[in-house]
Amino acid sequence: MLYKVMGRDVFKDFVKSLISNYEFIGPKRKDKAVHDFVPIKDISELDINYKRTTIPPAKKILFPPDEKLVAYEVNEKIKVRPVVESSEKVLFGINAWDINGMNFLDRFFVTDFVDENYLERRKKLIVIGMDSEPTETNFSPSMDSEYAKDGFDLYITELKDRYFIRINTARGDEILKKYSVTENALVKDFKDYNNYMDNYRKKFKLDVNIKDFYDNFELIYDDDEFWEKVAKNCYSCGSCNLACPTCFCFNVKDDIELNLKDGNKTREWDSCMLPEYGLVAGGHNFRPDKENRLKQRYRCKLKTFLDKFGRYACVGCGRCIEVCLAKINIADNINSIKKEVSV
Ligand code: SF4
Ligand code: SF4
Repeated sequence: MLYKVMGRDVFKDFVKSLISNYEFIGPKRKDKAVHDFVPIKDISELDINYKRTTIPPAKKILFPPDEKLVAYEVNEKIKVRPVVESSEKVLFGINAWDINGMNFLDRFFVTDFVDENYLERRKKLIVIGMDSEPTETNFSPSMDSEYAKDGFDLYITELKDRYFIRINTARGDEILKKYSVTENALVKDFKDYNNYMDNYRKKFKLDVNIKDFYDNFELIYDDDEFWEKVAKNCYSCGSCNLACPTCFCFNVKDDIELNLKDGNKTREWDSCMLPEYGLVAGGHNFRPDKENRLKQRYRCKLKTFLDKFGRYACVGCGRCIEVCLAKINIADNINSIKKEVSV
């Protein structure tokens, strides 16, 4: 990691150069409360001071909701052509917990199988991180995700009169040299950065007791009364999965042309909260009840990947809390499992 500082006077020109020279994706206001990561053509469209986290998350750039994987042609012989669509892009202004979400997906998409489509896009994505204001539903510090150690090229922190920049890749270093003027960070810059981080962490108000969850979950796992209470109002709509930066489940379907010869295999996001998720050939459903689906979601997020990758499949972004019409709150539920077990 290299550390540099950039003056406020050159920051704007740096961003403008990136917009002119790259396909540039950044946060733009969609309506009063929501921002989205979209292509930016002019700096006036960019709003890096977004408070509410973007819905859907930036994972859509690496793992689109709907994507062609394979094109095929059925004649005497079957011709199959993989479809990998990717181009170099700058993703600007993504915050630490969403970078950590992408880091989780990086791991998922190369373990057990290697997903070329995801990998190609990730390699070509120049990631420039910046902190954003946490919402009241955000519990990233509890999940160790309010700070990103890797998964980006540059991470820019806005101090009072300058920007503190962490350079994580040679590509990031080259971009900075080519499009801006920076100086090496000195002791005073590090001190100001540390003060900034101390104050930044104080902005996260929601605290989740995740440390005891791993064991306590097993004790509560068969408590039907508890899960009935938690999932009582769930509509099984799947919004919590779609909004989540680490959910990766997908379906693959065939789109066949009317000539019955040409077709594509397409994947689209799936959701473990939908009733048909556990439905298999023959009509058996492994998880027909919403209580079981919700508890399985918590197991996947908060236990399974801790065993498999040594990290949670949850970065504490709070999006699933914000989008849930039934007000099902993963943070409250983690804490209430602790309370239940402690009574
Ligand atoms: S927990 Fe909420 S968002 Fe998720 S499926 Fe149930 S109602 Fe929908
Ligand atoms: S489970 Fe909820 S809080 Fe955790 S990363 Fe997914 S959307 Fe964010």
